[in-house]
Amino acid sequence: MADEKPAMTCGIDLGTTNSAIAYIDEHGKSQVIPNSDNERITPSVVLFEDSEVIVGKIAKNSAVASPDRVIQFVKRHMGEEGWVKSFGGKDYTPETISALILKRIVQDAEKVSGRKVGSVVITVPAYFNEVERKATQDAGTIAGLNVVSILNEPTAAALAYGMDKLGEKRRVLVYDLGGGTFDVTIIEIDGTKIDVLATDGERRLGGVDWDDEIINLVAEKFKSEHGLDPRDDLEARQDLRNKAEDAKISLSKLDKVRILCQCQGKTTKVELTRDELEKITKGLLDQTETYLGVVLQKAKLTWKDIGTVLLVGGMTRMPAVRSMIERVTGLKPETGINPDECVAMGAAYYNAVLALQAKPSEEPELALQGQELKASIEEEVMILLQGVEVTNVNSHSLGIIGIRRSDMKLVAHKMIPKNTPIPAEITKPFGTEKANQVSVQIRIVEGESDNPEDCTEIGCCEIMDLPGGRPAGSLIDVTYSYTVDGRLSVTGKDRTSGKEARVEIVRSSGMDDKEIAAAQKDVVKIDVG
Ligand code: AMP
Repeated sequence: MADEKPAMTCGIDLGTTNSAIAYIDEHGKSQVIPNSDNERITPSVVLFEDSEVIVGKIAKNSAVASPDRVIQFVKRHMGEEGWVKSFGGKDYTPETISALILKRIVQDAEKVSGRKVGSVVITVPAYFNEVERKATQDAGTIAGLNVVSILNEPTAAALAYGMDKLGEKRRVLVYDLGGGTFDVTIIEIDGTKIDVLATDGERRLGGVDWDDEIINLVAEKFKSEHGLDPRDDLEARQDLRNKAEDAKISLSKLDKVRILCQCQGKTTKVELTRDELEKITKGLLDQTETYLGVVLQKAKLTWKDIGTVLLVGGMTRMPAVRSMIERVTGLKPETGINPDECVAMGAAYYNAVLALQAKPSEEPELALQGQELKASIEEEVMILLQGVEVTNVNSHSLGIIGIRRSDMKLVAHKMIPKNTPIPAEITKPFGTEKANQVSVQIRIVEGESDNPEDCTEIGCCEIMDLPGGRPAGSLIDVTYSYTVDGRLSVTGKDRTSGKEARVEIVRSSGMDDKEIAAAQKDVVKIDVG
């Protein structure tokens, strides 16, 4: 039956704590597809039982009884080299674990809708670097999906919000505080043009850090009463983690909650008020406030220039988060948009935009999908989608390693600083280090520090066979060119001899094609209940 209807054009929000999938319906509107438990979001949690793998709510609920068999927050490890978990003699990377989450979501979406999932766009935090983006894309491929693009979460949120407001000009601030990551982005919607003006954030700041503060408070109280630390007991720790999260969520509605901490037959009851929670997590909220100012400054705007504040991520339901944003921006956040669903919905819209804009001769597969979509959606929406143009900025600086003349130290010099609108191209002259130098190495780094050790080296190229007998400081022109889809090409050209070297970096780190294919074979065999 599933094969009779056209495949769906989908967007997936692969979240730290929860994930969601949306598709474009027959009217051209993005709709969330509930999972087989009839829930619109699925916990990004995986339980490895002896003979089966379970993803979602059951896995989350099993975390207390089987903490050593449950993986949560894997998104925080995307692209992390060497991070693996072993179950039943098999190693699982963050990519493979994420693939299992994707597999469950897609499997459910197909079951519930009775249609196949066609192409997908998967979202990532704006602050993800190239390695983390590549890992996310690989997770999709391992899950057997046709991933047509990776999209920044705030851009997706702005698309979901802006779809019925395209045509108006407005600047939108997206404050995205999820379970594990945080970013702030300023986006300008003008006609059907969506421009990201500036973005910044923290990869490792989110709801779990708020939960940790509660865990620490309760655990210290327990320790002082019983001389025993529940954080040292795997089961008690997981139980406390769940209770801390429940308490935090309840305190968004209630003034006061009680947390019962149990460990090795002993019990401590702690009363926590909303005021106390706000006090112990103030440092975390302050960190996010600092980023608001930073991003506004980077976009060269004042708060008067911002028309709308969009809240994304479950944590933005916390009253303290909302009042901080209101105080800082002077604006009441937009309420007509669901912070848990807007990212997946925007990703599906973006997929439709790509499908409708694809040129048939270049991308036959995509064009086919576009036509299916065209046949079914309303003319007005189709014209809108076809006109959508999304431009972005880079979220990490791209630089070159060289020797600083003043102190002869190795430094990372920024070629394309972060928040530069992309595509971007820049050429700068550099000099050779020594006299009679016959080769030049161009080492490419990603990162914000001028200390090369704090940056990630992402590629290298070398100009060889330069003429001898030249003084130090002979000029080499280096060009960095960064395209919309994250391709960086670097060219070095010797000014006198014209000799050159070139390298293209295409999200090159992480798994290679062979490893991806092998992981894909494994994941196909795994039943994700
Ligand atoms: P997300 O990654 O967007 O799904 O956000 C999940 C995070 O939001 C988790 O840390 C949740 O505990 C948190 N969260 C969800 N609902 C609420 C709420 N009503 N109040 C406070 N935090 C919440």
